[in-house]
Amino acid sequence: MESSTNSNKLLQYKQLYVQSNIVYLSTFISSIIFEFVFYFMKADIALYMNTLVLFLSVLPIVFNRKGKYGLASLIYLSMMSMSAFVNGLVFGIEVGFGFYFFNFAGLIIYTNWKVIYKLFALGVDAGLLLLLSIYFVSNEPLYRLSTPLFYAFLIMNILLNIIGIAHSAYFYMNNARNANERLSYLSTTDLLTGLMNRSAFIESFMQFCQMKNQNIGLIMFDIDFFKAINDTYGHLCGDAVLSKIGVLLKDKLTHRALMGRYGGEEFILVFPSQSLNEVNDLAEELREMIQLTDFHYENQVVKTSISVGAIFYPYDVNHGVDIDRLLAQADQHLYISKQSGRNQVSTSVFNLE
Ligand code: GH3
Ligand code: MG
Ligand code: MG
Repeated sequence: MESSTNSNKLLQYKQLYVQSNIVYLSTFISSIIFEFVFYFMKADIALYMNTLVLFLSVLPIVFNRKGKYGLASLIYLSMMSMSAFVNGLVFGIEVGFGFYFFNFAGLIIYTNWKVIYKLFALGVDAGLLLLLSIYFVSNEPLYRLSTPLFYAFLIMNILLNIIGIAHSAYFYMNNARNANERLSYLSTTDLLTGLMNRSAFIESFMQFCQMKNQNIGLIMFDIDFFKAINDTYGHLCGDAVLSKIGVLLKDKLTHRALMGRYGGEEFILVFPSQSLNEVNDLAEELREMIQLTDFHYENQVVKTSISVGAIFYPYDVNHGVDIDRLLAQADQHLYISKQSGRNQVSTSVFNLE
């Protein structure tokens, strides 16, 4: 649990880093372009402000790299609010410099600041936009844009803001989706073997039965004298054996069977099947595969075997599938295999009685 929380944090920071880096880098690049634009327009105040932004915009990139995400966003948002405010004063609010304050609201929410600081920053953000709007009730812009330039600025500001908001929304959505996928992976997968955990297996088993009205093979196996492996080579060696069995099963049967780790050293498989023979053959194959496998652990070769219980269930339209009884009968056969000396397979057709 501890390590999954940590890796979630790491993932979150990585997303924070990537998202803000894209924003910072594009600001840096666009301020280079604006340096030329404002220079040729002879819009002095805007040019000075932009020069400041050009130099300052290196700082968020640097701090972001050092992992100081909060400070990076503070510098970035302060500098950009100033810049939008000044450009608003210079060229007038009708040109669309006010839109940036809506964009900043989204970026403020995205920072890793405390809620109280976010609220304060949102207040400042809204305050600056209000100030700018009120100022133009009775004032004219400092720089009169020609009609073509007016529309050029308006279109640019609309486009940049829509791109900014769409980009943020895309990232939030993506992050939520990644987090969801990760959560569902963690809650359904046995991390040691990479197979389904018990509850996920049962759930998939039930769906499998509902979706496909067909004959079923069920194989359950348990590692023989597994405790002895732990006792002789250590618990980590036991883990390595379990993990390797997970890999072997996936290599052999992915797309052919649902596979889960049913308990400590117990595995379970369900697959569409045509006959008891087929189930028996697969069970034998698995038993033999494990018997022949060299499990490597710290320069040692460890050998083991499994005892298998398997059931063939010819689909019965009238009765559906009683999963619990199917599992119980497979378990009984597993027990029979253990009783008759281990490293064995015991199978039968499902018996309704
Ligand atoms: P049998 O042939 O009768 O199945 O004997 P066994 O020793 O395999 O069975 P027993 O039930 O006595 O012991 C199972 C052992 O499996 C005990 C438990 O410590 C170990 N085990 C369960 N889960 C894990 C695990 O995740 N890792 C390791 N290394 N051992 C585990
Ligand atoms: Mg065992
Ligand atoms: Mg066991």
